[in-house]
Amino acid sequence: MIFPVLGPTTYCGVWGDPRGSSTHKGVDICAPMSTPIVAAYDGTVSRGTDPSGGNVIVEKLADGSAVYYAHLSAYEGAFPRAVRAGETIGYVGMTGSAALVGIPHLHFERWSNGMYTTPYDPMPELRAAQRSQALPQRPAPFPALFGAALILATSAGLAFLLRAHPLPRRRLRVA
Ligand SMILES: [Zn+2]
Repeated sequence: MIFPVLGPTTYCGVWGDPRGSSTHKGVDICAPMSTPIVAAYDGTVSRGTDPSGGNVIVEKLADGSAVYYAHLSAYEGAFPRAVRAGETIGYVGMTGSAALVGIPHLHFERWSNGMYTTPYDPMPELRAAQRSQALPQRPAPFPALFGAALILATSAGLAFLLRAHPLPRRRLRVA
């Protein structure tokens, strides 16, 4: 596997985070707007849109599983097509529900049998890819966006931001 974002990143949402009446079914990788997104595995990519994911890519793998990449600002290359791991397929953005929190990120989701009904936590494989590629685990810089996002934050957005930028509880003023 190749880590799916090329550049400085930080995890800003994990599997199981509360999201309204449901829970988060993937991992959020925050990175500056338009950072390249690469195919994590060899596979076949298709593009589409949905209300929560915005601009999305679904990649089908030879083992029958799939990867769902969401919130892209733009796509790269022709779709559908066969890709090799590491090939650029799009760019980090905040389309779909990511617009609510105003922070660009890749929502990375894995489906065990190729269907959205069978998601599982992709964090172990993401961590393994970072280790094998010796990627730095430093935070991504987005101070201006963070300030703007705080003003716009909904309760869900605030939870998202606090995961990205933990603050001392006593400094919070939440109605
Ligand atoms: Zn997400």
